[in-house]
Amino acid sequence: MTTTSARLLELSDAHSAHTYHPLPVVISRAEGVWLTDVEGRRYLDMLAAYSAVNFGHANPRLTARAKEQLDRVTLVSRAFEHDQFGPFVRDLAALCGKDMVLPMNSGAEGVETALKTARKWGYEVKGVPPGKANVIAFRGNFHGRTTTIISFSDDPDAHDSYGPYTPGFRLVPYGDLEALRAAVDGATVAVLIEPIQGEAGVNVPPSGFLRAVRELCTETGVLMIDDEVQAGLGRTGRTFAADHEDVVPDVYILGKALGGGIMPVSAVVADRDVLGVFEPGQHGSTFGGNPLACAIGREVVAMLREGAYQRHSAELGAYLHERLGSLPGVEGVSGRGLWAGLSLGRAARPVSERLMELGVLAKETHETVLRLAPPLVITREELDWALERLEAALAVSQGATGR
Ligand SMILES: *Cc1c(COP(=O)(O)O)cnc(C)c1O
Repeated sequence: MTTTSARLLELSDAHSAHTYHPLPVVISRAEGVWLTDVEGRRYLDMLAAYSAVNFGHANPRLTARAKEQLDRVTLVSRAFEHDQFGPFVRDLAALCGKDMVLPMNSGAEGVETALKTARKWGYEVKGVPPGKANVIAFRGNFHGRTTTIISFSDDPDAHDSYGPYTPGFRLVPYGDLEALRAAVDGATVAVLIEPIQGEAGVNVPPSGFLRAVRELCTETGVLMIDDEVQAGLGRTGRTFAADHEDVVPDVYILGKALGGGIMPVSAVVADRDVLGVFEPGQHGSTFGGNPLACAIGREVVAMLREGAYQRHSAELGAYLHERLGSLPGVEGVSGRGLWAGLSLGRAARPVSERLMELGVLAKETHETVLRLAPPLVITREELDWALERLEAALAVSQGATGR
């Protein structure tokens, strides 16, 4: 007998491009940290859509605001002003301690926008000769999937077969200050950095590195662009991951959780001397800064201003890391707050598959790392429940591979 989920999995397999290797589970409902599949089985979400669902599924405050806005106005384009726009950009700029916001939709668009900003700033403010600007990024980076962004990815799956590539990027090892210093020259307009590399395995840079990058950028007149799309908005126990080193970048890129898990909302946030380079017609997006996005984004900002999500992530995250440190079958644990990468030293996929059978959904990244990133509304009891199952999954899959 074919189950509903088997039928739906077949449809997906037959009619969608195979750009993902999802776990074979078909979700139809969600609330808080819990997902329910089409057969009525419940799972604890330990991925939170790569941090896009930081505030929990169907967060009552966010869905109420979204529903209210749905009945008023959802889209006018930037050709007209609407009443949600001004308050949203004011509040988001204030959260970041900056002057201006340029709203977009996906994280990749936010990164593209930041790169265009840096180049334009480089030519018009810094005085870089036309066509010569370079941006420095890091090995192991993940900033999205556009042709320009994958041009400086060193992940063959993300990069290969998509050329010709956009020039103007240099890669240095993540955490290597001397290599970074050597790569900067008079035509460098920006250093683009993830404060913690999410897709690479939740890699935290050496202590003091972000601060050193900040100082180098200031010394050399280069913009520090901080991609907080996955690391930001409470995930690490602070509003921004760069806050852990008291670093304020020139440019923040935000995304994922900014849309409250409801819709894509991204933004570039910077001071007037940087974002002020744009004149009408020089950049844009039909959906960027739409009324629904602004209404949700403004509520997200209001929630973050209260600080409870950050505190909960810091407190429960400390407990999570303490527990993970003593887990058998794990070679290393990285991350911060309610965000962890477990290096297993063996394929992580069988562990995530076993976890699924046990009612916990988590996903491997780069073969041997299991990533844990629950919605920040998870309770200690729920976390304990997940950790019990994680321990069982690690033991079983370890036995299965004979190690
Ligand atoms: C997910 C991610 C992006 C891209 O966001 P999309 O919304 O998937 O385009 C960019 N930067 C980082 C650090 C990310 O984790």
